Amino acid sequence: MAKYIFVTGGVTSSLGKGIIAASLAKLLQARGLKVTIQKFDPYINVDPGTLNPYEHGECYVTEDGAETDLDLGHYERFLSTPTSQANNVTTGRIYQTVINKERAGDFLGKTVQVVPHITDEIKRRMLLLGKGSQFDIVITEIGGTVGDIESLPFIEAVRQLQWELPEDKVMVIHLTLVPYLKAAKELKTKPTQHSVKMLSETGVHPDVLVCRTEEPLGNDIRRKIALFCNVKQEAVIEAMDASTIYEVPLLMLREKLDIICLKKLNITQYSEPNLEKWKVYLDKLKYPKSKVTIGLIGKYIELQDAYKSILESFIHAGAMNEVKVQVVNVHSEFITEENVQEKLEGLDGLLVAPGFGLRGIEGKIVAVKYAREKKLPFFGICLGMQMAVIEFARNVLGLSDAHSTEMDANTTNPVINMMEEQKKIKMMGGTMRLGAYPCAIQPGSLAEKIYGSTAISERHRHRYEFNSDYLEQFEANGMLATGTNPESGLVEIIEIPTHPFFIGVQYHPELKSSVEYPAPLFVGFVNAAKIYNENKGILHAEQMEESI
Ligand code: GLN
Repeated sequence: MAKYIFVTGGVTSSLGKGIIAASLAKLLQARGLKVTIQKFDPYINVDPGTLNPYEHGECYVTEDGAETDLDLGHYERFLSTPTSQANNVTTGRIYQTVINKERAGDFLGKTVQVVPHITDEIKRRMLLLGKGSQFDIVITEIGGTVGDIESLPFIEAVRQLQWELPEDKVMVIHLTLVPYLKAAKELKTKPTQHSVKMLSETGVHPDVLVCRTEEPLGNDIRRKIALFCNVKQEAVIEAMDASTIYEVPLLMLREKLDIICLKKLNITQYSEPNLEKWKVYLDKLKYPKSKVTIGLIGKYIELQDAYKSILESFIHAGAMNEVKVQVVNVHSEFITEENVQEKLEGLDGLLVAPGFGLRGIEGKIVAVKYAREKKLPFFGICLGMQMAVIEFARNVLGLSDAHSTEMDANTTNPVINMMEEQKKIKMMGGTMRLGAYPCAIQPGSLAEKIYGSTAISERHRHRYEFNSDYLEQFEANGMLATGTNPESGLVEIIEIPTHPFFIGVQYHPELKSSVEYPAPLFVGFVNAAKIYNENKGILHAEQMEESI
């Protein structure tokens, strides 16, 4: 059976529990241990799939097709190991299981209550991934902030596990804030003291405190926090603001967070941390040789978390190409034929983002047209690919009312259509085409050069698809389907070979990009943008070919 580390958060939200959990996991993995991370979220939605990105940021999709919290993206990007449905549990999912059992009569006439029935189900799921020999350590991040009413059952479950499991099988890390008051020129420990007190009142005592701070903690502050929060002084960990999240594992290594955990869990078999690749990556990230500017065309740009995986993929691909990728957000709602030149001038590449619904659609189509005509490197993801198809249909094939039936159910030219198996679905949650599917790539295509393979697998999240009735017409006029699902024939990749870099994909390559394995399409796209930039706006196909 695995050992368990729980990570709770106090004082405020957005302290970065996910990054601390992922960084600790990275260090333990680098020391040769098998680690996974899971997230328990206190909201009632069964999963975040039905949430508007403005509410909770991006919905991250796993290989097995689970729609999950974006923190799972950080876990995968740091660890390069896949997560699954089991790694993300919400209050809604817990209640759904318990209520289904109640309806089935499984509780044999008993009154079903938060304690013990809900807490038992929480505990069962908390322990699940640690059963068997797949993992040595399971890190569980508890969403929300200590003191929230809604996270109480999770904290109670942690309390029970702290009591039930042997001392060296479970530990709790509490993440807090130590604010710096400019007027007093002092770091203040009181919020941390209150937060630990509140956690202790629920019966959970933290073994380690990770303190987010803008200023170094210093020995006096560490001692004060240790004394008043009743933890060992070496268990007070300083977590200074970092220039990039990818630096945090090294900061935590310096603070010996991993060693403290290994000691508490009585794990003696571990190696020196192997972080060579990580450090090379970090060096490339911090000291780029040049810069490229990519326009991200989307409608949720006010909230950067809505495009988390895309932005992180650019960071990975930038490091790989030794360039800094500056992402310029362009709101699709405000792009028009009149202002497109002004808005997109000076970019080295254009990415049209995934999305749902009508808002901002026409702006995306105008942006695609600009990239196609100006031979600006173009990359469309999911809805972005669908917009490229619509643009081509309208402006090259002359089908002026071409549309997706998602936006216009009555169009006479539904070049993007709802998938057949989607038509009978009535429920919204978890019913899209989700998760990993294979894709067969045409030899000689841009996609094949970029992937270096004709058989790939990528993750999906959509209901609409390229309408194959139009395929011949598209191909005859220069837009090719260069990647298809080998079983259904569903179009996965489109390209315009007469354009030096024009590619759209129905899937989400950003979901599989990690520090160690950056997504090939992002690497290829950033490379194209780099050449475009070096040549001041010209990208020759031969040059592209040579550099891939
Ligand atoms: N709304 C489109 C569909 O459902 C695209 C989805 C997406 O971009 N993830 O097919």
